[in-house]
Amino acid sequence: MNIWTQDYEQLIFLQDRSIGFKAIIAVHHTKLGPALGGCRMMDYGNEEEAVLDALRLARGMTYKSALAGIPYGGGKAVIVGRPGTAVNREAWFRSLGKQLHKLNGLYITGLDLGSTVQDMDGVREETAYVTDTTGSLGADNELTATMTAYGVFLGIRASLKRAYGSESLRNKVIAVQGLGKVGFKLCRYLQEADAKLIVADIDAARVRLAAASFGALASSPEAIAAVPCDVFAPCALGGVLHEGAIAALDCAIVAGAANNQLATPEDGERIHGRGILYAPDYAINAGGIIVTAAELEGADAAKAKSDTERIYGSLERIFAEASLRGLSTAAAADQITEELLGKQLF
Ligand code: NAD
Repeated sequence: MNIWTQDYEQLIFLQDRSIGFKAIIAVHHTKLGPALGGCRMMDYGNEEEAVLDALRLARGMTYKSALAGIPYGGGKAVIVGRPGTAVNREAWFRSLGKQLHKLNGLYITGLDLGSTVQDMDGVREETAYVTDTTGSLGADNELTATMTAYGVFLGIRASLKRAYGSESLRNKVIAVQGLGKVGFKLCRYLQEADAKLIVADIDAARVRLAAASFGALASSPEAIAAVPCDVFAPCALGGVLHEGAIAALDCAIVAGAANNQLATPEDGERIHGRGILYAPDYAINAGGIIVTAAELEGADAAKAKSDTERIYGSLERIFAEASLRGLSTAAAADQITEELLGKQLF
């Protein structure tokens, strides 16, 4: 990837050699507000992989916040590697906090894969530019996952309305891939609305629990994306919508919580070409970032819930504009977001 051809504001390399700390912050866009996005910590094969991950994730955050109508831009921090000891771990996150403080609010960090609420507490020792600290709205995993699931549930309703003319879930068959924090809660919303569930997870205990709790039928992780259903809801990994998987889809709608569902941009066109309605991932799964925005505003869970309800209208708009402009829903979502951001990015 040639980053000079991309619209990024800043790419910042951080290090503290005395404690082995190395991190990268990508700031994609701050026109709508400070860059918001969590801190990922993982072992990357090399620095280039870490940079690409930070850049890709930061851009995704810009689009997610802009479309959700919250006043933030997109950024992401990645910490390269894992500390050997708990003492080092605290030192690493405090070092991140010191550096964020020098950036003076350009970027606000929070939770992501590999980081914990305790880590964010360490950042908070050094700076206020952090969310998801102990006792905050965003640190409440239940609330974040519940709002994400609630937004996906509303997005499924909006998709049904578009595809079938009615948002009723009664007797609609929904195939849920992944029964983690979000997928399981989504199943509860769907079952309460009288949908029929088919579920899969690599963790057989979670499948058994969903069967017992919601009367869900079990499928296998290999087969779930191709089962006959009304809605396929990917709630596990990214990249599940690739050429082969799209050819095998047997549904009217794809609408789920997973980030980065399309393996490549062309896959948005492939789904469209098959006549399947795709609810763009960053539009439908914005409930979590909406909770973070509510936290920064000093608002409560009720405000986060009412803001999450905007996801229904956001999807209606994407579907309508896609038809009007003759685009796939994935391309329409990108176009609408880019218009919101303004043609002149900086
Ligand atoms: P999670 O880790 O709690 O759950 C993921 C589940 O998927 C686990 O139960 C895991 O066993 C299962 N899984 C993994 N590989 C699978 C496979 N091949 N087939 C079937 N199941 C598989 O994660 P989560 O918080 O529920 O998030 C789910 C997805 O939604 C992720 O892509 C995440 O990035 C996205 N997301 C989550 C939030 C949130 O608030 N948690 C917000 C926005 C987007």
